[in-house]
Amino acid sequence: MELACPECRGNGRGCEACEERGFLLIDRCPMACLDDAVWEAIDVAEWVRRGIPPAPGSYQEQTNCILEALQFIWSDQSRWKKDKKLIDLDG
Ligand SMILES: [Zn+2]
Repeated sequence: MELACPECRGNGRGCEACEERGFLLIDRCPMACLDDAVWEAIDVAEWVRRGIPPAPGSYQEQTNCILEALQFIWSDQSRWKKDKKLIDLDG
């Protein structure tokens, strides 16, 4: 399974993490690759989707770290949903 590189966001140029491929090759259960911080970020993304941000206030009160994490998580989820629709159409 291929996962868009989180370091370069799939760009690949000059990225050492993915050796300029733009993706990481996952050759074991993806669930085993996720640490507690990732699971927490995924939980936060779901709460934000429901209208509950991690920090009080508006968008401007959220940290850059969480905003970048949300952008990455939602982008990846969107890509997987598109891939699933394509599989459903083929199947
Ligand atoms: Zn990369």
